Amino acid sequence: MTILPTIAQCQDWWQLLLGRQLLQQELPEDLQEFLQEPTWHSWWPELVVTNGIEQNNSGEWFCQRCLMPVAPSQQLATGALYCTACLALGRVSQHDQLVSLPVDQAMASANPLTWSGKLTAQQAQVANAILTQYCDNTVSAQLLWAVTGAGKTEMIFPIIAAALQGGQRVGLAAPRLDVCNELYPRLQQAFGKTSLILLHGQQHQPYYQAQLVVATTHQLIRFKQAFDLLIIDEVDSFPFAGNPMLANAVNKALKVGGRRLYLSATPPASLQRQSQQGKLPLHYLPRRFHGRNLPVPQILITASFKKKGFSNRVQQLFRYLLAEKRRWLVFVPQAAQLPRYQSAWQLAFPQIAVATVHAKDPQRLAKVAAFRANHGTVLFTTTILERGVTFNNIDVVILTADHQQFTASNLVQIAGRADRASGGPIGQVYFCCNFYTRAIQQACQQIKHLNHVSGGL
Ligand SMILES: [Zn+2]
Repeated sequence: MTILPTIAQCQDWWQLLLGRQLLQQELPEDLQEFLQEPTWHSWWPELVVTNGIEQNNSGEWFCQRCLMPVAPSQQLATGALYCTACLALGRVSQHDQLVSLPVDQAMASANPLTWSGKLTAQQAQVANAILTQYCDNTVSAQLLWAVTGAGKTEMIFPIIAAALQGGQRVGLAAPRLDVCNELYPRLQQAFGKTSLILLHGQQHQPYYQAQLVVATTHQLIRFKQAFDLLIIDEVDSFPFAGNPMLANAVNKALKVGGRRLYLSATPPASLQRQSQQGKLPLHYLPRRFHGRNLPVPQILITASFKKKGFSNRVQQLFRYLLAEKRRWLVFVPQAAQLPRYQSAWQLAFPQIAVATVHAKDPQRLAKVAAFRANHGTVLFTTTILERGVTFNNIDVVILTADHQQFTASNLVQIAGRADRASGGPIGQVYFCCNFYTRAIQQACQQIKHLNHVSGGL
């Protein structure tokens, strides 16, 4: 005899599954048991259960979660094929099944935007152009190219508000969790009446069905046909750039007919090309929200180190910044060098505490939050903080800026960390390098060009 689920169980399962695609073993035990019932399908016909790995018409195997090909050599000891591409989110093999539930329309909400701020005239113009294009419904994607500090997030409020008002589901995905952590509270404030959830690998709030989802791009793998509008921030950034699995995840997470909005301060060549060919509408905002120019980097030709400590020129710079009572970030090419920089700082300035943070630092989130809350004078870091993270009124120093690790795009992003606040003194950017490399030259040219076309102050 079939044991029917209770109404409460059905509600829990619906909350968990709507618009998602989960491995059977990720489901709650009672739902797993229900799916063992031979007649479950007649009780819940909307639920879709598929094999984890399927073969296409040409006989090639594909993972049904991340849609990447599975080579015949990717076998478990049992001989079953499994997917290596999305392994980090739990293994999908031929033994496994994926469960999904197509999404329905969300509740339409009147006036969802509770933000009391105001866009500048230029921001409003760009935001309206994006919204008009969205309402026209003739293109499947758009690109917003806005310099760092242009107030990108506020510019997407009108399009999000329009989608929510129309009962649509909206996802905002960013490649890295720092960026998600920063976006979430801002959206929470701006859309105070809307159900909102934050999803990333280090976030342990249980999933529930929300109309607005902020997630890392990896988390999109667990969605299927869920969003009417998917906004992808930092589209040029690792790990999203050039990653076909994450591109698949975005496509799969969109509803049929759903639309994308890409955001970037340094869009990849492929998207720039698409927009030149007229396939991708481009909205361009080269001016920062406070109207000031991007700070042009000051180049100091110097070694960063001399024997155990900083070179004289670097020490002189730090002493100057301390005397000016500045706070600043120091970017270094590799995380492995951070302890060396930390000791050099302690040697030179023993009375002033120093912090370091890198991608695998277990206290990464707490350290970034502390620095943002004005604790500490100087924070040594790697390119993990090059984008998406806003600190008020800071300067930026790059040591060994001529290192191959720093591309022109990295350098522009890093320089954009300075001078983000509208008040206070103008933030400065210093590139310390042995040589004036092509990347440094290109970065400086790009910044000057953006300042020129924006006509900033
Ligand atoms: Zn996969």
